[in-house]
Amino acid sequence: MGRTQRHRQRRNLQTPTPTSTTLDNALHVLYGQLHALGWRNETRLSALTFPQTGRGLCSKTKSFQADDELIRLPASCLISIATLEADEGFKQLFNRNLFDKDARISFQALVACYLMYQRHLYECTKDSPWSAYLDTLPSSYTTPYFCAINELQCLPDALLERTVAQNRQIREYYQVLKTLLGSQHCESCGNRYCEDIWALAEYKIAYFTVNTRSVYLDARQLKQSNKSHFQPLLNDSSNLALAPFLDLFNHSDSVRTTAQLYSKSQEYVLTLEAFTKPILKPYEQLYISYGALPNLKLITEYGFYLEHNAHDYFEFSLQDIERLIAHNKELAAQSYHRNIFKFIREHNLMDQMFVHIQDGCSHNLRVVLHLIFKQQAYFPNVLNQIAFGDVEQFDNVQPELSYLLAYKVNEYQGFVNALQQQPQLTESGTVALGYLIECLRYLRDFEQAHS
Ligand SMILES: [Zn+2]
Repeated sequence: MGRTQRHRQRRNLQTPTPTSTTLDNALHVLYGQLHALGWRNETRLSALTFPQTGRGLCSKTKSFQADDELIRLPASCLISIATLEADEGFKQLFNRNLFDKDARISFQALVACYLMYQRHLYECTKDSPWSAYLDTLPSSYTTPYFCAINELQCLPDALLERTVAQNRQIREYYQVLKTLLGSQHCESCGNRYCEDIWALAEYKIAYFTVNTRSVYLDARQLKQSNKSHFQPLLNDSSNLALAPFLDLFNHSDSVRTTAQLYSKSQEYVLTLEAFTKPILKPYEQLYISYGALPNLKLITEYGFYLEHNAHDYFEFSLQDIERLIAHNKELAAQSYHRNIFKFIREHNLMDQMFVHIQDGCSHNLRVVLHLIFKQQAYFPNVLNQIAFGDVEQFDNVQPELSYLLAYKVNEYQGFVNALQQQPQLTESGTVALGYLIECLRYLRDFEQAHS
C-alpha cells in the first residue's frame, strides 16, 4: 500500500522522518474526522516516512508484543457495504429496474465507483464526509497495470497475463456502470456522471485504490438494515471495506496478524499475532500481513515486492517447457508424443509447477518433467499409473530442471536488459524492473542450493 512511495525512498536513510506537509495536513484532518466518528487511537499510532517502505505507521509511545492490538477502528470509520447502502444520494443513481443479471459487477468495482462519486461531491460541493480520506489517497499506483506500453513489451507473460485480465475486468465493469447510470447527472453542477465526470482513467485509479488498500471483513457482522439495494447488482460477496488510516499499515512477510469485525461493539480490530522480534519499540514501524503472498501476487495486486520474501516461489507454465524444448538443441532433437501434453493439460498437471528455495521442485513440476522427458509410453492408462502412482519411481529430472532454470534466467535477463535500455521508466516500470531482478536472484539461489 502507499506503494507509490515504497521504492522511491533512499535506502541509506536510517530513521523515520515526518511525512510531507500536504499529507501531514490531510492526515491531521483525517484524525479529527475519525475521532468524531469514535476512534480513540488507544495505541497512539502515527504516520511517518520510513526508509524501507515510505509512508507507514508506528506508535510514538507504546511498545508491542505478540497478541497486542494494533488498532481498533469503529465500523462507522470504514467504507463498507453499510456505508453505500446508507448513502441515499449514491443509491439514487442506481435504478434497480435496470439491473441485469447478466451484467453484474464486483463489490470492489462498486466501491471504486463510490470513491469517484465522493471525489466529485468533494470537488463540486466541497462537502464529502470522506474528504480527508480522499486527500490521503495516492494519486497513482505502481502495479504493472500502469506500466507504459514500451515497458509492457519488456515484461514476462506471468505479469502480462494478470495485467491483461485486470484490464478486461475494469473495462467491463466500467461499461456496466455506464449503461446503468446512463445520463444521471450531478445535482449541483448538472454534469452527467458517466459522460462528463467519470473518465475511464479515473476509474482505473479508483479501482486500484480499492485493490491495493481494502481490507477483508465479514459483512454479515455489520449492523445494517435488511433491505439491500445493491445486492442484485453484485456478482460476489461484499466482504471488503476501505479502512481510512488503518490502510497505512505496510505488509511484511515476518508478521502474522488477524483482523476481525466484532458485531456487538461494531469495531474492526487488528491484532498482532506473532512476529520475529520479542518486542517492537516506539518508533519502530508496525507491519501487518496481507497474507502469505509470493512476490508475483504482491506486485500485480499491490504494486510492490519484498526482497527475500519468505513466502516466495517461482512458477512455470507448460509453455515455458515447450519453449525450452524449442530453444535447446539436445531437447529439440528428441521426439515428444502429443498424447503426453494432452494428458498433462487434461489433468491440470501444469498447475502448481514451481520451485521453492527450501522445498525444492514442486510435485507437479517433477511429474510433468518426468512425463515429458523420461517417459516412453504414451498410452493414457500407463501415464495415469505414472502420474498418480508412487513418487519414488520418477527418474531424476535434475538435468531438465537445470535447463528450465537456465532458460528462465536467460529469458528474465533479457527482460531486465530491455527495461534498462528504455530512456526512462515510469514508477511502475521501475518497480517491475526491481521485481525481475529479484526473480533472477531467486532462480540463481535456487539453482545453487539444489544442483
Ligand atoms: Zn457536480
